[in-house]
Amino acid sequence: MSEIIQISVSPERKDDIEFHHQLILQKLDDSDKKVHSIKVLKRSIDARKRQVKYILSYNVFFDQSEIELPYSPNYLNVQDAKKTVHIIGCGPAGLFAALTCLKIGVKPILFERGKDVRLRRRDIASLNKLGVVNPESNYCFGEGGAGTYSDGKLYTRSKKRGNVLEVLQLLVHHGAPEDILVDAHPHIGTNKLPLIIQNITQTIIDHGGEVHFNSKLTDLTIQNNSIKSVLINDNESVTVNALVIATGHSARDVFHLLNEKDIKMSFKPFALGVRVEHKQSLIDSIQYKQQERSEFLPPSSYSLVYNNGERSVYSFCMCPGGNYSPMCNSKQ
Ligand SMILES: Cc1cc2nc3c(=O)[nH]c(=O)nc-3n(C[C@H](O)[C@H](O)[C@H](O)COP(=O)(O)OP(=O)(O)OC[C@H]3O[C@@H](n4cnc5c(N)ncnc54)[C@H](O)[C@@H]3O)c2cc1C
Repeated sequence: MSEIIQISVSPERKDDIEFHHQLILQKLDDSDKKVHSIKVLKRSIDARKRQVKYILSYNVFFDQSEIELPYSPNYLNVQDAKKTVHIIGCGPAGLFAALTCLKIGVKPILFERGKDVRLRRRDIASLNKLGVVNPESNYCFGEGGAGTYSDGKLYTRSKKRGNVLEVLQLLVHHGAPEDILVDAHPHIGTNKLPLIIQNITQTIIDHGGEVHFNSKLTDLTIQNNSIKSVLINDNESVTVNALVIATGHSARDVFHLLNEKDIKMSFKPFALGVRVEHKQSLIDSIQYKQQERSEFLPPSSYSLVYNNGERSVYSFCMCPGGNYSPMCNSKQ
């Protein structure tokens, strides 16, 4: 038997597990029950009143047998697998496609036009400092894909895309902080993401998959209505059985190529965004109703949604506590 208990604590006691334990014992229906262990399920901040609180939901276990086993992704070694899938693009879509291949015993072979995530950092630095854009290695292209160097939220508005917890567990398995499993607004900063991406790529390689950087899809050969081969960097022809094109929304050349080849594409509605930067102290004072944020509270965030019945306007993933954007003109 296990029971879910919710407690609220002041920010300075958010990590005081002993204190949480005491509160849980007070709240238990049957005080004679012996608690075996507790596990935090969700953590959020309630800043509606002047006194800001942390709300924590705990799973309380009364028996060893109730405790869940640690997450294990069960990847197979696909070094000599008969089936292969070629994947173009090492963004989230390409990397997750490759990890799925490892689970079902298929060998993934990835081609990425950009550099690996460490070398990519130098091109981003040169873009920020000197304004020089490397067309194949930048904020959009390179190992990890578009979001890797722009910070942000682990966030989806979709409720129908399957098990989000498994994605979070997979990220933790590859080095993300465990907090993302419980935080109401999980976040992995750009300081941590490159290492996690590197670890995911290493998992693919360690299990017998292949990852090729500086390898850009430049052409396709189609025979009898099926793709037979891809051309990499205009000179290497690679025969394919199954192909996943996971090149994201910035690879315009790929859209032109698919169009030239008469490959049917369907468009997604798009959202147009503007970047707004506020001083963190302003958001903190509004959200926490305090002149200065307590050291026990994280930089606050907000999200706004307006829908007039036909269209909606909403704030996208904000970056609480982030630095001002080097891509913008002024420091605000
Ligand atoms: C500035 C910015 C901030 C964002 N912030 C957030 C956020 O906070 N939270 C969030 O959920 N989402 C955020 N996103 C969106 C998120 O990054 C994308 O939804 C996600 O990266 C899409 O993944 P993908 O794998 O489909 O494509 P991408 O990430 O675009 O990856 C495509 C990959 O394919 C490679 N490629 C392209 N063409 C070729 C080719 N011809 N040959 C070989 N390789 C090729 C590219 O180099 C790239 O690595 C942000 C995006 C941007 C640009």
